[in-house]
Formats: sequence, C-alpha cells, structure tokens
Amino acid sequence: MRRAVERERVHMRKLTELQFDNSYARLPEAFYAKLAPTPLADPHLVSFNEAAAELLDLDPSEAQTPEFIAYFSGQKLLPGAEPLAMLYAGHQFGVYVPQLGDGRAILLGEVRNARGERWDVHLKGAGATRYARGFDGRAVLRSTIREYLCSEAMHALGIPTTRALGIVGSDEPVQRETIERAALLVRLAPTHVRFGSFEVFHYRGQRERVKELADYVIAEHFIELTHAPDKYRNFLAEVVARTARLVAEWQAVGFAHGVMNTDNMSIMGLTLDYGPFGFMDAFEFAFICNHSDYAGRYAFNAQPAVALWNLSCLAQALSSLVTREEAVAVLDKFQPIFAAHYGALMRRKLGLASARAEDADLVLQLLDLLNANAVDYTNFFRRLSDFTSDSAASNEALRDMFTELAAFDAWAANYRARLLAEGSADDERKRRMDAVNPKYVLRNYLAQNAITAAVEQHDYTEIDRLLALLRCPFDEQTEMDVYAASPPRWSEQLVVSCSS
Ligand code: AMP
Ligand code: MG
Repeated sequence: MRRAVERERVHMRKLTELQFDNSYARLPEAFYAKLAPTPLADPHLVSFNEAAAELLDLDPSEAQTPEFIAYFSGQKLLPGAEPLAMLYAGHQFGVYVPQLGDGRAILLGEVRNARGERWDVHLKGAGATRYARGFDGRAVLRSTIREYLCSEAMHALGIPTTRALGIVGSDEPVQRETIERAALLVRLAPTHVRFGSFEVFHYRGQRERVKELADYVIAEHFIELTHAPDKYRNFLAEVVARTARLVAEWQAVGFAHGVMNTDNMSIMGLTLDYGPFGFMDAFEFAFICNHSDYAGRYAFNAQPAVALWNLSCLAQALSSLVTREEAVAVLDKFQPIFAAHYGALMRRKLGLASARAEDADLVLQLLDLLNANAVDYTNFFRRLSDFTSDSAASNEALRDMFTELAAFDAWAANYRARLLAEGSADDERKRRMDAVNPKYVLRNYLAQNAITAAVEQHDYTEIDRLLALLRCPFDEQTEMDVYAASPPRWSEQLVVSCSS
C-alpha cells in the first residue's frame, strides 16, 4: 500500500524521458570501447517485467509501443545514452585470461531514478564488440529466458542479484550446438564492474588505472568509505563480506552458480551472469550444474572455497593499494562471516529462534541425511514447517521423503528435543518457516518448459506465468501446486552447459 502511494508520487517516465547519467563513460577510454548495438533482425517483445520498470521510473505501458522494441533491439538509441562495452579480464576455471570484456553486451547508459539510485541499462546479446574474440556477439533465446527468470526469482528470494527489464526476441539464426534464435536481455544493475575489471589493469602493470577504478567504484557505490583513511583496505573488506554473505545465501537456498570465474563475480556482491546455474532438486553436496565442468571446480559444495579463491585474486589485483598483511587479514574474515550468515540462515530454515552451539551438528546431520536419501531440498524444508513437536506425532509426510527411516527418526528426535528446549510453538514456528523456505524455485525443468514453448511455438505465456509465480516464492499459490511438485523423471536427462 505504502509502495503504491509512493509510486503514484513518482512521475512515470516515457522512454524518451529517462534520465541518463553516464558516469562510466566519463572514465578514461582505457576502461571501455564505445560503440552502438548491432540491431537485431525482426525484433519482437518476448516478455516485459513491470517490477523492474519501476527501478527506472519507466511507465510500464511503454512496453507496448514500437519504440520500446526499437530502443531495446538496438535499432534506435535512447536519448542521453552513451553505449559502450566494458573491458575486463578474469580467471576462467583457474586460468588467467588477460582480455575478456563485454564481447556481446553493451551498456547503453545509466538511468537515475527519482530515489537517486542509478541503474546500468545493459543489452546482453547486442552484437559483437571489440572484445568478442571471434564469437558472434549474440545470445540465444534459451539462455536469455533462463537468466531473465532466475534473476527475478533470486530477487524475490531476497538474494542480491542483477535484475532484468525484459527480453526482445527475433528470428535471427544463431549457431550453437544446433541453430537457435537470437534474443536480447535487458539487464539492470547498480554497476556491472567485476573482479576482472580490476585484474585486467593489474596484470598489465597499470597501477594508476587500478586506483582510478577503485576510486570510481568507492565514490559511486561505497560512498561511506570515501573519506576513510584506509579506504582501499575497507573497500576490499566490504567486498569480502558481501561475497561471503552472497554465497551463504546460495548455499542456504540450494543454488549453484555454475561458472564462478572472476569475470562473473560482481564487485557489489550480486549474483551476476546466469549461465548454467541450477537450483538443486534432490540434495547433493557435490552437485555440478554445468555439464562442461568436468572436474567439478564449481560444484555446489565448492562454492564457498571458490568465492574465497576469487577474492584472493581480487586482493592480488588491488595489491598496489592494499598491503599483503592487510589483504591476508581481510581475507581471513571470509570464513567467519560466511559461517555466521550461513548458520543464521539455516537456523531460520529450521525455525529455530535462538542460537545454540549444537545447531551446526543438527544442520550437518540433516544435510548428510538429505544427501544420502536424495531428498528434494526445497520441498523438505517447506514440509518441515508442518513438523509436530508432540512426541506421539509420527510426522509421516516428512518421514515418507526418506528411505533410511531409522536415520530420519534419529534426526527428528534431536530436532524435536531442540525445539522443546527453546519452547517452540508449532503454529508460530510454521509461520516463520513458511516466510523463509520457498515453496517455488526455478527448477531446471520449469525453465525448460518455458524455453520449449518459446522456442518451438513462439509461445511466451509460460515465461510470464513463471515470472508471476516466482515473484512470490513463499506464498502458497495453491492453484499452482503442480509447480512445487518433485521434478518429472525426464528432467534428469536435461543437460545445461556453458553454451549460451
Ligand atoms: P560468459 O560465459 O557469458 O560469462 O562469457 C565469457 C566471456 O565470453 C565474456 O567476455 C563474454 O562477453 C564472451 N562471450 C560469450 N559468448 C559470446 C558471444 N556469443 N559473442 C561474443 N562474446 C561472447
Ligand atoms: Mg560472464
């Protein structure tokens, strides 16, 4: 209600009235290549996200105009936009690649909203740039749908992420494993600066550029650090803390990113660059969502360690600004911050109102059990909110999710004792648990159903249905129950790779 009133007070802008403020374009040219998007052939609107339009104060009815397609397919340039491709490098699967950069993405510019926030408006799939390294500069409809739905789903789960305004489709053919159709994702983020944006200048020996970029990012996005005497150390510390908390959120919700290269690590601690990501169905410690990740470098249980490794690459890139001793001390904070946040999140998932030393064991024993019994991670926690703490209760619906019944009974007895020890009331606990354990997540097969309809029949209704569903992942939405069911067997055959 308050939001609605606030929104009414904000003047909703036409596309031509968006207020641009292109701070990145004011950095020296070494940071980017200026160029316009390559227009997509025969563009049409696939989906539009009103919730993200609000971030730009954009009048949602603009999505129905031909101008919307013209502006977001690269045919016309929004007044005030200064399009550019950002330069960055990155460690990919542990190997340093000295030059990457936006090979197919173009930052149209930064829109400032009435609340004073600035949002990058970025077209992913906008044609080859100077950084394309021989690739075609396009994105396929399939991967665009996955990123669109997942970024909005993550946002609704309360997990920091880039956002997405919409998808523009086309019949332009693109060669991947098969011929697919090209599309453009309109992505929004406070900034697209990555760990790799610093690495590129550090490894070129251009310390002045590293400092310029750090000063820029701090001034624009970490304002409270601007006047701190040890601002670079504090900046690194803040990125470490945000990244640790982000990965704790991923672990708690059962999300695997799939390609945690340093060029896909946001300096703001956002989930960035959705590729072969996956929400787990059956819980598996060593879950690998990316079919191309043969060694499991980015397996689910490796994510916290990889995040720390990536942060050490960032610290290396900042080594002209932060001493080795400072960096080591800051990086040492990762593990305790991660553990504290993950512990708090798991306690909330279990409905525990207080913290006790034995909680870590309760969580670990549960994860062992879920892993050994291949229990659906999302559904287990959603069902756990119906747990009856009365010792006579069998909690049958929950128990039926396991094959090792004695092991489940032993864990349930511990859980019951823990609940009783803090005087937990079943009804009140259920309310708390249902507010943190989602009923709906973007299961791989759900995304696949939307993709199949879109790709084979130009039918985009399933995309919009999922978008609406995942916007309220904690609500019962009883009429949508089927979307919370365990996945069909065919989904086990789905293969997700880096191809996008
Ligand atoms: P990604 O796997 O999407 O994170 O991309 C890794 C790097 O490859 C980035 O520099 C991308 O811009 C670039 N890239 C990926 N696909 C393409 C493509 N089709 N055309 C041009 N550059 C691409
Ligand atoms: Mg990337």
